[in-house]
Amino acid sequence: MYSWENPDDRVAIVTLNSELRHAQLELLSAHSAAHQLRVRFSAEDLARFGQRDILRKSVHAALALSEYYSSIERKIPAAEAASEAPTRLSEDRILEAIDLVCSFLREQRERYFHSAAPLTQHQKALIGGYFSPDMLERVQIVKLDGSRVPNPPFYEQARALGFTSLPEITHMHSLTFLDVIVFNEAVTERTLFHGLVHAVQFELLGLARYSSLFVRSFVNTRLHFSVPLEAHAFSLESKFVGTPAHLFSVEDQVRLWMKQGRY
Ligand SMILES: [Zn+2]
Repeated sequence: MYSWENPDDRVAIVTLNSELRHAQLELLSAHSAAHQLRVRFSAEDLARFGQRDILRKSVHAALALSEYYSSIERKIPAAEAASEAPTRLSEDRILEAIDLVCSFLREQRERYFHSAAPLTQHQKALIGGYFSPDMLERVQIVKLDGSRVPNPPFYEQARALGFTSLPEITHMHSLTFLDVIVFNEAVTERTLFHGLVHAVQFELLGLARYSSLFVRSFVNTRLHFSVPLEAHAFSLESKFVGTPAHLFSVEDQVRLWMKQGRY
């Protein structure tokens, strides 16, 4: 079974979600085609006049799909299933949440900025081909020793609203607070790259928009790695690790997703 703690698995989990989404779109289209049939013809007429082999194959495919998805449904943790269809948040509540996240990110940035240090020449050289020199100059990092970034104070409130799968900040490798990356664990080439992708997202989207996009997608997907801001960071990270010889500009990739409205 995959573990969110393992960086290789995280990439696989992002792929899993993208394929799950793809299958869901195909299901929706099958659903809508079947709906047309239902609206236009009675079940009796379909059973009586429908071409036998096509009818049998359709019934078989629908049953197999239903069995498959039901078997997955039975494995959804009980606690989460109980809070299924959690309180639908009003726009006011969402705006409140965006505000909390926004203030949290700004406060953490101020908190860690004083102990942050610029990237070393060695670090800049490792990832230089992917980020602008200006960005590498501006971003600062903090390596925590013995302590970890705690979960935000508003988590209790969010859990009470039915958000059972909030990202455990304490367990994360690093956190990016605008232009400051705080490492709970060792700074590696790969985790530095990941943190910097978020720094580019903050830079190009701005804090308010970043917070809004994050909260709105999280409210919809309930899983932080399905939030496009995070999924994009993992997919770029996987490209970085997978094809080291192939340089690309993270800034261009982030701009592209912004232009295509993918965040
Ligand atoms: Zn991330």
